[in-house]
Order: sequence, then C-alpha cells, then structure tokens
Amino acid sequence: MENGLRRALRRAREGVALDAVEAEILLSARGDALADLCASAARVRDQGLADAGRPGVITYSKKVFIPLTRLCRDRCHYCTFATTPNRLPAAFLSPDEVLEIAAQGAALGCKEALFTLGDHPEERWPAAREWLDAHGYDSTLAYVRAMKTLFFGRGHPMIGSHDPRMIDVAQSLARRTGRDLNEFEFQLLYGIRPYEAERLRALGHAVRVYVPYGYFMRRLAERPANLAFFVRANASRD
Ligand code: SF4
Repeated sequence: MENGLRRALRRAREGVALDAVEAEILLSARGDALADLCASAARVRDQGLADAGRPGVITYSKKVFIPLTRLCRDRCHYCTFATTPNRLPAAFLSPDEVLEIAAQGAALGCKEALFTLGDHPEERWPAAREWLDAHGYDSTLAYVRAMKTLFFGRGHPMIGSHDPRMIDVAQSLARRTGRDLNEFEFQLLYGIRPYEAERLRALGHAVRVYVPYGYFMRRLAERPANLAFFVRANASRD
C-alpha cells in the first residue's frame, strides 16, 4: 500500500480532521483499505450522532432538482446534464414550469429545491440568446427572477453553480431577504474551482461539495472522459 494512503487511513482511524489532499488520496482506497476507510467513516458518523443527542438516528432532507437550463457555453460535461438545444423542448424552463416542478416536489415531501444550470449558455447557443431576448431577460436576470421565488419564500435555497456572478447574486439576494448564512447553501462539484469552496466556507456559508465515492464513480461510468477532466482540474487548482 502506498505511504500516503497508509498515512491518510491511519489519520482517519485516529479521528483526525483530514485535509483536501488526504481526502483526495483516500478516493483511491480499494479492498481492505476501503473497508478500513468505511469503518473510520462509520465511527465518525456514530460519534457525531451520539454527540448530537440522537445516537443511531440518521435524517435526510428530500430535495427537488430544477434544471433551469441544461445548456452551457463550456464543453467539459462533467455535470453530464449539459446538452444541445435540439435535444430540448426549450432553452430555459419557463417561470411556470419552475413553479410546477417546485410544487410537485413539495407535494412529494421535498423540503429543498436545487436549481441547476449551465454557465452563460447564451454565449454559445443562439437558441438560448433568442429565448432570453424573447422573454425579456438577460442571462443573469433569468436566473435571478426564478431564484427570487425561493429566496423570498420559505424554502431552503441551494445554489449549484460555480459561476462567480451567480454566487454574487445569491449572496446579494440573501442579504436583501434577511436570510441567515445557515438558511441557504452553495453546492459545488469536487475538483471545479476548489478554492471557491474554501473561500465561501471562510465567509461562513454552508457549502456542500459533491465528492461521494459512488457519485464520482457514477459520473465516470456515465462519461469516462470525466476522469481526464477530474485529473486536469485537480492538477491546475485554479
Ligand atoms: S461548466 Fe458546469 S454546467 Fe457547464 S458543462 Fe461543465 S459541469 Fe456542466
């Protein structure tokens, strides 16, 4: 077993807080090493539940995903949802469709809604530009108008975007609507703009980074080219 992995496993076993490099090394754990890692994770989970006064009780929050647009100017396709205009009925969901999806989610017991969208799709796709023009929005406004529905409502907004402009907009809306930092959250994909997660955490924001083993492996299975993207993203660390 490689030294870095052995050391990271030992530190996980001892309950030491791991840094990002160690977490990345642990992604390569297989076989006995993976079983060791899972046992450490289970201990941390059980201790956390006991410390929170609810031993053995795991809660979760159902969420509904709202794909505001599946178009993107970038071609990395790490998300796997980005597609082309000819595969979609429209470039963006209409406000009514957004509300309909949110209502369906609420009817099914969802407590959270997550907007997903590509980065500046109108800069690549004429169909996106035309849709925005036809509906009287520029790209930011289209996002902001829909997002306001959540920020001004009772929901728990989650902003799944790496776009600095979108993050600024969400922070500004939170201030205007008087939301505490724990009343909304940012969600980022592991490996894309990694220092953004640290910056937002340092500002006191709730940040969820999608790195679970199964999720990552599923993304690889869906699109093997993601492996090259993942390696490049972590090598560049921009
Ligand atoms: S930039 Fe984001 S939304 Fe666009 S293709 Fe890449 S992962 Fe998907």
